[in-house]
Amino acid sequence: MSADRARAHVLILGGTTEARRLAEALEHDASYRVTTSLAGRVAAPVLPPGESRIGGFGGVVGLAGWIITHDVTHVVDATHPFAERMSFHASEAGALTGVPLLALRRPGWSPGPGDAWTFADSLEGAAALLPGPGAGRVFLTTGRMGLHSFAHLADPWFLVRSVDPPTGPVPPRLEVLLERGPFALEDERELLARHRIDVLVTKDSGGSATAPKLTAAREAGIPVLVVRRPAVPAGVAEAPSVEAALRWLHQDGPT
Ligand code: NAP
Repeated sequence: MSADRARAHVLILGGTTEARRLAEALEHDASYRVTTSLAGRVAAPVLPPGESRIGGFGGVVGLAGWIITHDVTHVVDATHPFAERMSFHASEAGALTGVPLLALRRPGWSPGPGDAWTFADSLEGAAALLPGPGAGRVFLTTGRMGLHSFAHLADPWFLVRSVDPPTGPVPPRLEVLLERGPFALEDERELLARHRIDVLVTKDSGGSATAPKLTAAREAGIPVLVVRRPAVPAGVAEAPSVEAALRWLHQDGPT
């Protein structure tokens, strides 16, 4: 048996801080070989330690094939909470291959005293709630991939923040800020004031890297539209933190 076959091979479906942190936590553990998979959406991704691969697998069957061919022993779906299709594919591939699957999902955000949050079930739902004619300077932080959901809104002015420039349909009145988190509270306060923002739109991504915008909005009395997360596929084990994911891996044990 080769040395590689004696080790557990963890496939991390990545694209998040938690995915990178999990790869870092396993970096010096000789019991584990780690491959992180990235979709390839970001032009210059921050690559984690260990092996990595970039690009889609070609659906459920492609992912299941990759898992078998590469002797994967554990799959950790550490994709963004809104990467719904990939999570579904991981669940289906887990069922096909019998390889244990864990969904690593950081907890979502909850409103506190002073927050004026309205929830929507989708980007389209959030777009439908935006102010009508004559009103609205909107800070849109839902990512460049979903901008088409807002493209029909001609009245509001949008400030869009994303890592890479948007492609595809966008609303007619917008300014794009190319920035990658984490974002500091002081900067978020200044941004909301400088652009005279009336409403903030966000996904319930959770985590601390992008949370300061919520604090800044609360302080400024700015309402927030929050898009709810899709559910983790039924029957998939879930961990809220990297530490919990490590416990799951260690309990199952290296092969
Ligand atoms: P998605 O809609 O759930 O997935 C679309 C397709 O992209 C999947 O069917 C798969 O292609 C490919 N894909 C997605 N994640 C992949 C991964 N980690 N490795 C290899 N292929 C992957 O995904 P998405 O919402 O566009 O997100 C794409 C990536 O960006 C994810 O890795 C996610 O963690 C990250 N991200 C997403 C968001 C968000 O708001 N959605 C925010 C921040 C980061 P095949 O079917 O060909 O395998």
